[in-house]
Amino acid sequence: MNIELSENYSFEEYRSLFYRILDEKKLNKTSERFHILRAIYDTDGHFTVNTLYNKLKSKKYQVSKTTIYNTLSLLESFYLIEKHNFGGSCAQYEKCDTSTSHDHIIIIDTDEIIEFKNEKLNLLIKEIEDTYKLKVARRAFTLFCHKK
Ligand SMILES: [Zn+2]
Repeated sequence: MNIELSENYSFEEYRSLFYRILDEKKLNKTSERFHILRAIYDTDGHFTVNTLYNKLKSKKYQVSKTTIYNTLSLLESFYLIEKHNFGGSCAQYEKCDTSTSHDHIIIIDTDEIIEFKNEKLNLLIKEIEDTYKLKVARRAFTLFCHKK
């Protein structure tokens, strides 16, 4: 199954994509998985397994970290979320759709994460796509920096 990313998903669209994925993988549409998806959808910006786990726990939802890990990797394999390894102790995740596409700068000394968009970089990627007759499916551009 190939999911064509669109812009600004409503929760209903996001949920129906997720259910298509579960159907394809022959997995049950459990309330655990539904709560995880809702929590991801409601999160703006980056999150870790722990922040997601704590968010669900504070809402009194019984969800195991294993189910969170499995759900995240399922969503990641269909490009509905992105996994970032910014060098900290745990991976960071974020939702992705075409409207939120951006790149990252990591300030190594402080672990600060700066998100940026650069039109010249987008044009360069477009040029690479045209030159090699390819379509970028996933993009990971991160600069690891020291402050000057
Ligand atoms: Zn980001």
